[in-house]
Amino acid sequence: MNPAHTLFLSAPAAAELIQRHGIAQTLRGMRDAIAEDFGRWADFDKSARVANHSAQGVIELMPIADDRLYSFKYVNGHPDNTRLGLSTVMAFGVLADVATGTPLLLSELTLTTALRTAATSALAAQTLARPGSRVMALIGNGAQSEFQALAFQHLVGISTLRVFDLDRAATDKLVANLAGSGLHIVVCASAADAVRGADIVTTLTADKTNATIVTPDMLEPGMHINGVGGDCPGKTELHAEVLRRASVFVEYTPQTRVEGDIQQMPADFAVTELHDVLAGREPGRTHASQITVFDSVGFALEDYSALRFMHGLAVAQGMGTTVSLIPDLADPKNLFGALRAPAAAAGLRLAA
Ligand code: NAD
Repeated sequence: MNPAHTLFLSAPAAAELIQRHGIAQTLRGMRDAIAEDFGRWADFDKSARVANHSAQGVIELMPIADDRLYSFKYVNGHPDNTRLGLSTVMAFGVLADVATGTPLLLSELTLTTALRTAATSALAAQTLARPGSRVMALIGNGAQSEFQALAFQHLVGISTLRVFDLDRAATDKLVANLAGSGLHIVVCASAADAVRGADIVTTLTADKTNATIVTPDMLEPGMHINGVGGDCPGKTELHAEVLRRASVFVEYTPQTRVEGDIQQMPADFAVTELHDVLAGREPGRTHASQITVFDSVGFALEDYSALRFMHGLAVAQGMGTTVSLIPDLADPKNLFGALRAPAAAAGLRLAA
C-alpha cells in the first residue's frame, strides 16, 4: 500500500467487521492477542498514560511501542456525558510502523476499547477466578456492560448474570441487548442483592467520586472482583477494606497506583502484575477461599494488541477505506511542492 495512504477504520466499519467476524470470535481473538503481547512484556517501551483532568472528566493519551509497531490511543472519561447524549468513553487511535514512523492504521477505538477491556477482564478472570465460576454480578449496566457479559460468557463460562444499575433504563437496555444470548439474567434491587451468591463481581460504574460499590460485608470466600470503573484519581468503586482482604492484581503498577482502586492504599501496598501470573512467574489464585481483585484501569498494551488484531482482521476482510493523513510526495524533500499540486486543492473546500 502507498505509505501516504493510511487504512481508516471508522466506527461503522469496525462495527461491521466485528459483526462479520462474530463478537465471541472477536473477543477470543483479542484475548489471545493481549495474552501474546503480555507474554512479551519486556519487549515494550512502557509508560503510564498522560492524563489531562478537568472538573467534568479526563482526556488521556496512551502510547506504547516495541521494535516493530507503535500505537497510541486518545480516550476520554466523562461520567456525566450520557446526560448530554454523549458517551462516557470515546476513543480513537493509531498503529504505526516503528522503522519509518509511517501511520498504518487510523481507527475508531470506542467499540474496540469495550471489546479489549472485556477481553482483558476475561483473561484475568481465567487465571484468578475459581474454576467453575458460573454466576457473575454486573453492577453498572452502561456502554461497557454487554461486552463484559459476553466475554465472561464465552471465555470464562459464566451462565447467570445478576445485574444492577441505579438507572433502571440502563438495565432494561442490557436485558434487551442480551436477549437470545443464552445468559440467564436476574435483575437485582441493589448492588448488595446482585453480589449475593456471585462467583465473580464486575463493577462497571461511572461516577467521579470515591464510591463504595463493594463493601466488606458483601464479600464471600473465593469471590473474584473485576473492578473496571475505578480508573482515575478520585474515582474508585471498592471499599479499602475489600482491597486489604484480597490479593490484588494489576496491569501496570505505576499507572494503577495513581488511577486504580489501590490509589486509596499506601504506596507499598502489595500487588501482582497480571503478566507475571500469565507467565507463571507469580502465583495467581492459590486457594479456593482466597478473594481476588483485578484492579483494571486499562493499559496501552491492550490497545496495541487490539489495534494489531483489528488491523489484521480489516486487511484480511478487505474492510476500511484509506485516508491521506500525510502528503504523497514524489520527492520527500519537496514538501512545498504539495502546495502547488492541483490535487491539493481539489475537493477540499467545505461546501458553502
Ligand atoms: P456508562 O456511563 O455508559 O455506564 C455507567 C453506568 O454506571 C451508568 O448506567 C450509571 O447509571 C451506572 N452507575 C453509576 N453509579 C452507580 C452506582 N453507584 N451503582 C450502580 N450503578 C451506577 O459508562 P461505561 O462506558 O459503561 O463505563 C463504565 C466505567 O468503566 C466508567 O467508569 C469507565 O471510565 C470505565 N472504563 C474502564 C476501562 C478499563 O480499562 N478499566 C475501560 C473502559 C471504561
